[in-house]
Amino acid sequence: MRLVMFGAPGAGKGTQAKRLSEHLGVPHISTGDMLRENIEQRTELGRAARSYMDRGELVPDDIINGMVRVRLEESDCEHGFILDGYPRTIPQAEALDRMLGEMGIELDAVFDLEVPDEEIVRRLSGRRVCRQCGASYHVVFNPPKQPGVCDVCGGQLYQREDDTEEAVLNRIAVYKRKTKPLLEYYTRRGLMRTVDGTGSIDEIFGRLLGLLPGGK
Ligand code: ADP
Ligand code: ADP
Ligand code: ZN
Repeated sequence: MRLVMFGAPGAGKGTQAKRLSEHLGVPHISTGDMLRENIEQRTELGRAARSYMDRGELVPDDIINGMVRVRLEESDCEHGFILDGYPRTIPQAEALDRMLGEMGIELDAVFDLEVPDEEIVRRLSGRRVCRQCGASYHVVFNPPKQPGVCDVCGGQLYQREDDTEEAVLNRIAVYKRKTKPLLEYYTRRGLMRTVDGTGSIDEIFGRLLGLLPGGK
C-alpha cells in the first residue's frame, strides 16, 4: 500500500501515519522527521535546511526530492510506504511521479485530513515530540503516560522550535499558498480522499481504515 498523508501543519498526519504504518506493516516516511534527524546529526543537509525550518518556510525542492529518492530506494519500501509531509509543492509532486514511474509503481491514495485553523493552532501550541522516535503528543489532547517521556521508546519529549506562534502562523500561510494546490493535482488523478480530521485520534483512524483502497 502506497499512501500520502496530506493536510495542514498540525492536522494529525504524523499521529495517524504512525498508526497506519503499524497496521499495514509499511514504513512511515516523514520528511520533517528526516530533516530534524539531519539537523541533530549535524549533516550538510541539516545545515542547509535549518534556517528555512526555523522560520516556517519550505526547504528547497531539490534538497527534499533528493532525500526522498534515496529513502524510497531502500528495501523496506518494497511493499509500500506512507509519506507524511511530502509532497508539499507541485514540483515535488511532479518529482515524486517521476521517481515512482522509474520504479514502475503508483500511489494508491492520498488522504487529506481536514481541520479548521483554530484547532490547528491549539494542536500545535501544545505539541510535544519525541527526540528519539518522532512520536507526537499533546499536553492536553494526547498526553504521555509520564510527563516529558515517550510512551513508545522512553525518549525525551521537547517542543519544536517552529511550534512558536509566529512560525506556526507562517507555516499555515505557506501551506495555503504552496501546498493546497496539490489538492486539485491529486483530485484530478482520482487519488484524493478527504477525511474529517476532527474528533478523537481513534475516531479519525477508524475513518482512514474505512477509506483504504481495497478495504484493507
Ligand atoms: P508539520 O508536522 O508541522 O506539518 P513537518 O515536521 O512535516 O511539520 O515539517 C517541518 C518543517 O520541515 C517544515 O516547516 C519545512 O520547513 C520542512 N519540511 C518538511 N517537509 C518538507 C517538504 N516536503 N518540503 C519542504 N520543506 C519541508
Ligand atoms: P502533523 O504531523 O500533521 O503536523 P501531528 O500528528 O504532529 O500533526 O499532530 C499535531 C498535534 O495535535 C500533536 O500535538 C498531536 O498530539 C495532536 N493531535 C493529533 N491528533 C489529534 C486529535 N485527533 N485531537 C487532538 N489533538 C490531536
Ligand atoms: Zn519515542
